[in-house]
Amino acid sequence: MTARPDARTALFFDFDDTLHDFHGAYIEALERAVAPVAARARPPLAPGELARRCLLPWARAWEHTMVGRPDAEALWRERSAAVLEQAGLRPDATLARGVRETYLTEMEARLRLFPDALPALHRARAVVGPDGALGLLTNGPGGVQRARLRALGLLERFTPVVISDEVGCSKPDPAFFAIALRAAAVRPQRAVLIGDNPATDVAGAGRSGLGSVWLARAGAPLPADRRDVVPDATAGNLMEAVERAAELLRRRRDG
Ligand SMILES: [Mg+2]
Repeated sequence: MTARPDARTALFFDFDDTLHDFHGAYIEALERAVAPVAARARPPLAPGELARRCLLPWARAWEHTMVGRPDAEALWRERSAAVLEQAGLRPDATLARGVRETYLTEMEARLRLFPDALPALHRARAVVGPDGALGLLTNGPGGVQRARLRALGLLERFTPVVISDEVGCSKPDPAFFAIALRAAAVRPQRAVLIGDNPATDVAGAGRSGLGSVWLARAGAPLPADRRDVVPDATAGNLMEAVERAAELLRRRRDG
């Protein structure tokens, strides 16, 4: 039986640090990527020290270039420049290219789904039913995110897959969520997003009328600068997050 259009539900998932351990891989890949630059630094630097110095500039580069209108080339210009600058070196195209290539290769080698990801997606399919949508909403470069989703066996599991770089806007912009809702053919009241990021996932979903489940794997409270963000539900793991999302979908249908 086909669901009435207004009864169709969607569960949306964030990707990085929700389905796979992005942060763990990132720290290791960054250290590997900057090692050749650290070796040339004057005075010499340990790769771990150079990586530590790059954390803030790399996070800022992401904010500058991938939030709003994403620009992956600008992201890598800023990231490479930051590595060389932190090492006290002049611009060097070969070293810069090496940082980018090594980082991406090392990230691919470290891709790991969280152990609860596949069971949770299985349960999520049962929650939305055969006519519902399981969607993936991620901020990042289209080619890179698609390659990672494919490598983890996730690409075929989601319809729609909405990637900021491909649609020209990013979470938490309401325009991004409008694209996702249209692609999933659901109303915001019938959709819930599960994600780890209070600002882009939780606040973004709330502003666009979707339900939100904040995935807080570390069990930590909201960061001090995000206390204004109010998730509809909070969960310590993905299985729990899907159950909270199912409750929200029921409540929003009946409410
Ligand atoms: Mg995330």
